[in-house]
Amino acid sequence: MSMPLPAPELQETACPLCGKADSHTVLQTVDHLCGVPGTYSVARCEKCEHVFMNPRPTTETLHLCYPDHYGPHVSAPPTDNSNNSEPQPETPWYLRFLPLRYVPGLRSLYYWLTNDRGQLLPHKPFESEDNVPPRALELGCATGGYLSRLVAIGWDVVGVEPSEAASEKARECGFCVHTGVLDDVSLPAASFDCAAAWMVIEHVVDPITTLRQLHDLLKPGGQLLISVPNGGCWERLLFRSSWYVWELPRHLHYFTPTSIRKVLETSGFVNATVIHQRNVLYIIGSLGIFLGQFSLTRSVGKRLLKYPDSPNMWVQLAISPLAHLLAIFRQGGRLTITAERPLTTRYECGLAEGAKL
Ligand SMILES: [Zn+2]
Repeated sequence: MSMPLPAPELQETACPLCGKADSHTVLQTVDHLCGVPGTYSVARCEKCEHVFMNPRPTTETLHLCYPDHYGPHVSAPPTDNSNNSEPQPETPWYLRFLPLRYVPGLRSLYYWLTNDRGQLLPHKPFESEDNVPPRALELGCATGGYLSRLVAIGWDVVGVEPSEAASEKARECGFCVHTGVLDDVSLPAASFDCAAAWMVIEHVVDPITTLRQLHDLLKPGGQLLISVPNGGCWERLLFRSSWYVWELPRHLHYFTPTSIRKVLETSGFVNATVIHQRNVLYIIGSLGIFLGQFSLTRSVGKRLLKYPDSPNMWVQLAISPLAHLLAIFRQGGRLTITAERPLTTRYECGLAEGAKL
């Protein structure tokens, strides 16, 4: 019989974006994904309307929110990082063995349908020195999947990952990965051409401080690439407490396209571009949580809830038209955001008085 998981300690917090102490609870729910015990609350700031977890886990017990079976930390590490071509999604059998592979445009159509715009690759800097590869930092690199894609296109990479087990797997693949968070590691300022943080910023206690740290590590003109769940889409309104993205107690913030732009601006970035991903995994996961509440549909619900961690190619192809449609109407469940460190730096002093996100 397995031991029950320990619960994190919680503390009341002011709004992490504007500092206002007044917020009101909008929802309470439990951890549907990893089973961390406890009931957790989501609040909305009275001043800037940011939605965040309150009370949130203390910094000392935050690691208890990530048990050993937390999905991203157990994902398989890359098996081969010596591949010199840009990795593509798995080629389906009908494009490999049948005459269908000669049909003009079918391969391009397949890659277009399966490209969810989830982890963009950076463009190479214009003024790179001869024989010196551009440098990229990934915060929250897990087992090194994205690092291997960067290496394959000629980048020199450094990873930072709080999970000891995941960072060890990445190091075994040959990557330079520091275990911890940005506060724990000493990296030279203004030394990276690109900084990436995929599905990370919603997990950190103080997103503005983390983004400022990434800003300072970038060279002037360097690229920032991040993604966050979209707290401003229809899924949240439809599924309410069954929304997959609440993911308490690990998600501490729920950004909208407007609020993430404002946070990036406050952190010193310019030229932010918000891209809606073609991704409907959260709809399937939310359906799983909803159906899991009823005895008749509990087993179906459990299967759907696990689907986002191991999506099936055929299902992904079948639902890709819906994913594209939602992205076109700016209702994607996830946002990819690109921004730049300006050539001269100027921080704003917090959000303007009375600002709404
Ligand atoms: Zn606020």
